Amino acid sequence: MTPYRDLISNKHKLSPVWPHFTQIEVEKASNCYLYDTKGREYIDFTSGIGVANIGHNHPRVVTAIQAQAEKLIHGQATIVYHQPMLKLVEKLARVLPTSLDNFFFTNSGSEAVESAIKLARHATGKPNIIAFQGGYHGRTVGAMTLTTAKTIYRSNYQPLMPGVHIAPFPYSFRYKNMSPEMLSKWCIHELQHLLKTQTSPEETAAMIIEPVLGEGGYVVPPKHFLANLREICSQKGILLIFDEIQTGFGRTGELFGYEHFNVKPDILLIAKGLASGMPLSGLVANHKLMEHWKAGSHGGTYGGNALACAASIETLRVIHDESLLDNARKSGHHLISRLQSLSEDYSCIGEVRGLGLMVGCEFIDDKKLTRSSIATKIRKYCLDKGLILLTCGTEDHVIRWVPPLTVTIDQLEQALAIFEDALFEVTN
Ligand code: PMP
Repeated sequence: MTPYRDLISNKHKLSPVWPHFTQIEVEKASNCYLYDTKGREYIDFTSGIGVANIGHNHPRVVTAIQAQAEKLIHGQATIVYHQPMLKLVEKLARVLPTSLDNFFFTNSGSEAVESAIKLARHATGKPNIIAFQGGYHGRTVGAMTLTTAKTIYRSNYQPLMPGVHIAPFPYSFRYKNMSPEMLSKWCIHELQHLLKTQTSPEETAAMIIEPVLGEGGYVVPPKHFLANLREICSQKGILLIFDEIQTGFGRTGELFGYEHFNVKPDILLIAKGLASGMPLSGLVANHKLMEHWKAGSHGGTYGGNALACAASIETLRVIHDESLLDNARKSGHHLISRLQSLSEDYSCIGEVRGLGLMVGCEFIDDKKLTRSSIATKIRKYCLDKGLILLTCGTEDHVIRWVPPLTVTIDQLEQALAIFEDALFEVTN
């Protein structure tokens, strides 16, 4: 066995490009808990960035992966069909609108985004894509170009992909001088202007948006914004892509974020919670649109891996059998109202917002500290006490709450008690 000290020094052999928000050397995980190699327990309210929606290592998913591994690990999608993928398609089709009936699988969120760009260009014959300010779509060159959540995601990687235009997103807390409705109208007005001045509808293949901004700050758009986008896209022959990589699979209290807004995309992107940690992502669209994608013009070795598909099928069953959407709504409601009451005592909390268990707590500068240092200090204090939280937003000034959808009120209260202590310590 490798001596422990060698493993420690091996940490220095990992690229520094991973920032490592904690030094935890995790050995195992269960539901909302992580356990390090010394047996210390941590409450994981990151769900591994919105992945372990049904809790880490759900026993039913573990069994499904084991059973599939005995039969087939890799069935290459251009060479063979395999049962887990065919069954997954059938299962997903049952929970999606009938217009979204054709599937393409990839491994990561970024790859799904990249695939959507390629499909949109290929199918429409048009070059340009519109993305929205504060959006996060991934790390590959195309997905990165659509990403404007923070400059670090883009800096020093120029030239970026050509043909991308950025429109404003209605981030109400940033534009406090306007009501959310006014702001939404203004953003639509600016988008219309962009279509007249920068990229005409005849040159615009698609618009891509997260129904709730994720890395950009956990921002829910005003009610009619997405419906207005839908209207513009339908009128002008532009495809509407919803990146539901973080909002999907129950995170917002509905299976998909778009259900809150009663708007359907032309292309839906899925990943993260889709397969509970097995690398699986995908793109869903209507078969008529997919028919434009010439056989062989896109692909990949591992997309739709058999183990990942088996994990995904079981994940969908668990979401249903354990009524996790209900729990996400109920617990999310509890979390938001508890955080809102904390905001009455702590003036550094500027806004608490969210849908389901996708909850953001945005900080504002106080007399001593900047909003970003408040959020970072709170995150670190919580970590010391065994609660893992992440930040998001341009300056990491938003604490995001992303617990597994299985979370109980008791577990939330345990975490909130630590968070409240952190608020007190950091601001006094
Ligand atoms: N889109 C969204 C909305 C995301 O949240 C993420 C990941 N945080 C991605 C795309 C990229 O996914 P991946 O990291 O799996 O490439």
